[in-house]
Amino acid sequence: MRGLLPALVVGARTGGPMQVRARIAAVRSWRRALARPDTSALPDAWDRVLIQRAAVWMFVGGGGVNGMTALTSDVEVTGPLLVVSGLLVLIAVELALLRRPRLWVLQAHAAAGVVLVGVVVALVGDAGLAPVYLLWPAVLVAWFSSWRALAVHLALLTFVLVTAMAVHGGVERPLDTVVAVLVTAAVIAGLITFLTRRQARLRAELALAADTDPLTGLLNRRAFEVRAVVALARARERGSPLGLVLFDLDHFKRVNDDHGHHWGDEVLVRFARVLRAASRDGDLVARLGGEGFVVLLPGAAERDAVAYTRRGAGAPGGQSVGPVTVPTASAGVVTAAGPGGAAGGSVGDAVRLADAAMYAAKAAGRHRTAVWGDPIRLTDLTAAAALDVAT
Ligand code: GH3
Ligand code: MG
Repeated sequence: MRGLLPALVVGARTGGPMQVRARIAAVRSWRRALARPDTSALPDAWDRVLIQRAAVWMFVGGGGVNGMTALTSDVEVTGPLLVVSGLLVLIAVELALLRRPRLWVLQAHAAAGVVLVGVVVALVGDAGLAPVYLLWPAVLVAWFSSWRALAVHLALLTFVLVTAMAVHGGVERPLDTVVAVLVTAAVIAGLITFLTRRQARLRAELALAADTDPLTGLLNRRAFEVRAVVALARARERGSPLGLVLFDLDHFKRVNDDHGHHWGDEVLVRFARVLRAASRDGDLVARLGGEGFVVLLPGAAERDAVAYTRRGAGAPGGQSVGPVTVPTASAGVVTAAGPGGAAGGSVGDAVRLADAAMYAAKAAGRHRTAVWGDPIRLTDLTAAAALDVAT
């Protein structure tokens, strides 16, 4: 219920049942988006570079610390310890030379680090701080891996530590060492995994909120423009038509003046719902601001776009929301790509042309569709069949 309840409370405080429903729909669509495989939790290219660099320096640090211990303490296994140090540094160099290593390659390197620390424990026995170095790869794995990969890593860590102490045989209180290392690694690595995933989720939520108009749950202007640029480029590349329709409610100000902004908002929510119901998968429906809406229709030639305006602008007139009769709308259509399209223009150009057409529809008496061209052609929507939108 997280997210849904606050939406209801906000809706109940600021508006009627339609706003509550619109907010629930908006929150549900966010939740659906967030429920998809959480790819945002995976590190992006820049994160991977950071992870790779951190791993390289961990191997360099491990090699250095181990080498210093070998040379400065009176252990009898200086030679083998120096070999381990050499190996750690070699792995650091090899890792530094890899170009864009995959995640499993980084995980394998972390596992190699664990095995080499295990060799040190097996050689020295009274390992001093050696098991503490097992935390380094655990923290690294926690940074970029799933919970499952972390669990596998911790299992490997436990196995290596137990085996190493068994091989040496002279470690005092081995159980205490295993428990201390495992619990500490699990707590720190678990916390890092949790925080990393929460941050990724928060980032995804923010991105979604930044793209959504909070009143209607439609795309906002910014999100529309970003997606429309891609859709336009794709349509031109494929030579397929792309219709763009701009809607503006007729005499909307009267709704606010006669019934108050609350009912004005309800009308906007209803109109957004009509447009959504009239759209297909792949269409982009957005609120440009105020009572202006824009719809991008991939695959729609002029005739299809005009038909869409019959379903969109033709339907709301006559419907009622509370005490308000939903106003009609005027529409401007432009073919942004395809036969008869505004060749070479940008999304902004297409919106401007549709806007000019829409104002021609207003000037001609409202509740009609105007198709951009020379001359602009008008279609009366008054006789359009009302779309049956469940309320
Ligand atoms: P026209 O047929 O020429 O488009 O007339 P209109 O009254 O629809 O156009 P006008 O631009 O004069 O008025 C638009 C009004 O929309 C003015 C503004 O107060 C109102 N408005 C803009 N955004 C919102 C909103 O989010 N909620 C509400 N309730 N009103 C809004
Ligand atoms: Mg208007």
